[in-house]
Amino acid sequence: MEILKTKSLMQEWARAKKKNSKTISFVPTMGYLHQGHISLLEKGKPLCDELVLSIFVNPSQFGPNEDLDAYPTDMENDLRLAEAAGVTAVFLPQKQDIYPQDYQTRISLDSLPHHLCGKCRPVHFGGVATVVTKLFNIVMPDVAIFGKKDYQQFQIIRRMTLDLDFDIEILGGEIVREPDGLAMSSRNAYLTADQRESALSLSRSVRKAAQAVARGEKNPGVIQTEITAFIQSFPQTSIDYISFCDPATLEPVKIIDKQILVALAVRVGKTRLIDNLLIDPPR
Ligand code: AMP
Repeated sequence: MEILKTKSLMQEWARAKKKNSKTISFVPTMGYLHQGHISLLEKGKPLCDELVLSIFVNPSQFGPNEDLDAYPTDMENDLRLAEAAGVTAVFLPQKQDIYPQDYQTRISLDSLPHHLCGKCRPVHFGGVATVVTKLFNIVMPDVAIFGKKDYQQFQIIRRMTLDLDFDIEILGGEIVREPDGLAMSSRNAYLTADQRESALSLSRSVRKAAQAVARGEKNPGVIQTEITAFIQSFPQTSIDYISFCDPATLEPVKIIDKQILVALAVRVGKTRLIDNLLIDPPR
């Protein structure tokens, strides 16, 4: 496994692979790897000759009061897991290499970033779209894999890839959960034992929403009221949003008569967690 610490080394490596007609799968991350990340690597591994993992805590996707400086890291463990997953190159760029002092370009999309998490994180998706564009140009992948845990991010990257004519296939990986249902996240490391209990309110809420739809409930407002009260019954929770929306446009729906996405963000103590589920109404 090669460890490449600058963008010119990464580009050189990718160019050499392309010259030898090798294909590249790519999984971008912010590190502190868990089984969710590993599942994306496992998905990418058989698809191409090479498997690239990037680890970069991207400052441009964090707002001023977010957890950029506190973001967890364990490089030794990450490299061990990457090697075990069959990664052939790890890209570990420095911030100054990605955003030199005179840097001034940012990617923006018209509507997708303004729903769901975009409402409370106004700079987030511009930062994500920008860094992913740069990573695509540096790593030159044929396939890139993103987790559906960050469903809005996945849709934004798909849209951006189409809109900007990147010749890259974007694949989504299913959400990997702890045995009790909590969606795996690097940020789960921030939770105290009590908060870990309250964090279960997210996965249980999306399951409750699915059960209500299966019972025939078509009114998102009714389900929203039910799961709002449910989440509020857990200590230290504060709801950022609960949305019932169209899975492609992320526009809120008024009636559940086709597949919907239920997505939510909840602060548990100071930690902001997200979860989502695609739900089909009964036939
Ligand atoms: P992050 O390191 O949080 O930026 O995540 C890197 C990639 O891993 C993103 O595409 C995430 O959507 C994906 N990911 C994070 N958690 C999970 C999970 N529990 N299941 C599946 N994919 C995940």
